[in-house]
Amino acid sequence: MPDRTLPHHHNEEKMMNRMRTELNKVDNFQAVAEIFKQLGDPTRVRIFWLLCHCEECVINISAMLEMSSPAVSHHLRPLRNSGLVVSRRSGKEVYYRASDTEQSRLLHQMIELVMAITCPN
Ligand SMILES: [Zn+2]
Repeated sequence: MPDRTLPHHHNEEKMMNRMRTELNKVDNFQAVAEIFKQLGDPTRVRIFWLLCHCEECVINISAMLEMSSPAVSHHLRPLRNSGLVVSRRSGKEVYYRASDTEQSRLLHQMIELVMAITCPN
């Protein structure tokens, strides 16, 4: 068993040991970093935030953001791969929306808290 004692004693040892156990689960932190990386671009935050409130096709998302469709598609791909956005095909049209997960809900809330705006829903 390795020495679990820290060089200095500023905090309660039990709590520090619990945190050390969590800190060693690097994969968990990697997963969090990946989510923030997805939202590390203002365009992706705009798209994600829009899709938290409605299901839309690329053409309408492009019109809302005043961007080209290829540019929007380029940003939708990683958002979808990360699971923050889901898509649904209906005939020729593909619709996108934020996934119905606790993670998406929290990020939606966080975005509105940071921007100090009220959810338009
Ligand atoms: Zn909202």
